[in-house]
Amino acid sequence: MNLVEKDLKYIWHPCSQMKDYEELKPIIIDHGKGVYLYDTEGKEYIDIVSSWWCNLLGHCNQTITESIKRQLDKLEHVIFANFSHEPVIALCEQLMEIIPKGLTKFNFSDNGSAAVECALKMSFQYQYQTGQQKKTRFMCLTEGYHGETIGALSVGSVDLYAKIYKPMLMDAIHVEAPDCYRCPYGKCRDACNVECFEHAEKAFAEHADETCAMIVEPLLQGSAGMRIYPALYLKKLRVLCDEYQVLLIADEIATGFGRTGKMFAFDHAGVSPDIMCVSKGLTGGYLPMAITITTDEIYEAFYADYNEGKAFMHSHTYSGNPLGCSAALGVQKILREDNILEKAAVTAEYLHNKLNQALIDHPHMGEIRHIGLVNAMELIIDKKTKEEYDSKLRMGYQIYKIALQKGLILRPLGNVLYFNPPLIINEEEIDKAVAICAQSIKEVIG
Ligand SMILES: *Cc1c(COP(=O)(O)O)cnc(C)c1O
Repeated sequence: MNLVEKDLKYIWHPCSQMKDYEELKPIIIDHGKGVYLYDTEGKEYIDIVSSWWCNLLGHCNQTITESIKRQLDKLEHVIFANFSHEPVIALCEQLMEIIPKGLTKFNFSDNGSAAVECALKMSFQYQYQTGQQKKTRFMCLTEGYHGETIGALSVGSVDLYAKIYKPMLMDAIHVEAPDCYRCPYGKCRDACNVECFEHAEKAFAEHADETCAMIVEPLLQGSAGMRIYPALYLKKLRVLCDEYQVLLIADEIATGFGRTGKMFAFDHAGVSPDIMCVSKGLTGGYLPMAITITTDEIYEAFYADYNEGKAFMHSHTYSGNPLGCSAALGVQKILREDNILEKAAVTAEYLHNKLNQALIDHPHMGEIRHIGLVNAMELIIDKKTKEEYDSKLRMGYQIYKIALQKGLILRPLGNVLYFNPPLIINEEEIDKAVAICAQSIKEVIG
């Protein structure tokens, strides 16, 4: 049996209809370098989706690799209750310099969904312990995505992931999200007064007294098809949350560490959340780690004599894992020393212009929305009506298959193709990726 046959014999791949693999076999990757991945036959692929958005600075980056190797010879893991270590302390010190102000306390876990669960439980218990025992529900935006565990799915609204499990989920309040491409108010993104904020105002007026927190993906609803909304929405949400004593949770798992052009998406709004979840880019996609970061005020509500029972009794085996921290320290070193965000701002403009030149006039290109290096291309039947392709046609998937043959990993979100490359991508790599993308679209829909 070769590797592909053995893979199919044993492995149930994530987020996949395994029958699809009869036609499109698993691609066995041997190694990676920068934005490139290489399969066992030496074929090269541009990883334009950053391996599910986590590979922040390219594959096999020497600085990150060295940082992990040094740690590996000293300490791989230690129980994090009552014990600590230098890498985790160094990491918190460094993150303190870049996170939105007011956030001061770091609770570690090992994946994005776990960080979200932690944020939800923390909010609930905070409200409970500060005399707001009626506040037991959560608010979220429609089209939001916060992970796949039961709590995280409950505050998510992407039917593809959540629908079948509805009977298992908590009853969250889903506030209609901004929809800038198909704005019901006939406005343009970034030239509006976020008229759609009325839905949040209405939901708060009705439900704030029973709501402990609102969770959002700031500015960029990733899994919904990279839907982008204005920073003004976050500003207004901050005010509303304060007014009604609802905690504001920022899920920066996809947007953190420069993905939107600033270090965090909330920085565009100039306000801070009460709780922020980070993962993905935190370790550059090297090792699974996540952090739920919060304020002194929330932390203090749990601080009491043991027998008062106020502690946050929440734990994960791999909390604060030293290897994960060493990877994250490697990422911080690069972000600091190599002016990555400044450079990425220049390539981001280059990338967006290139995609526009190549594709904006295509009869089936709806819009090419962008923030930072993230660019999303929504395929539609008709530019005027913005009518969508039937999802059963799997337009995005057809194009993905062609692009793969040509060496580009363009894994779509329904009818939305997107680029979310490592921040270190250069102009030559962009040219190549855009050319393959345009050619693949042409071969599938003309
Ligand atoms: C990926 C993601 C998650 C879930 O992270 P996992 O590590 O896959 O559990 C949560 N929220 C957002 C916005 C994400 O992009």
